[in-house]
Amino acid sequence: MALAEEVLQIVQQAARREGLRRVHALWLEIGQLASVEPEAMRFCFEAVARDSVAAGARLEIVATAGRAWCETCAESVALAALGEACPHCGGYRLRVTGGTQMRVQQMEAE
Ligand SMILES: [Zn+2]
Repeated sequence: MALAEEVLQIVQQAARREGLRRVHALWLEIGQLASVEPEAMRFCFEAVARDSVAAGARLEIVATAGRAWCETCAESVALAALGEACPHCGGYRLRVTGGTQMRVQQMEAE
């Protein structure tokens, strides 16, 4: 719920800044490692946005892949979930470099 409120705040700030009256759709980028369940986000956002500029807005969720730097392989590898081993060497000397963030990519509004 807290994350959905955060998204709504971002949308409301953008709406104020750009003088938008109604948000029809928004594209939300969610990293694979962000621990955000897309369906739960959709449900919560609908609830928190009910009386806002984004009431009834369509939420498009764009999943971005997790990335990590493997110290052993000395290269960037794909990471499906936090706590997983390097897909190349099976090691755990990984530094997460991408796929943990959540951001509003785009909005369709008037
Ligand atoms: Zn490795």
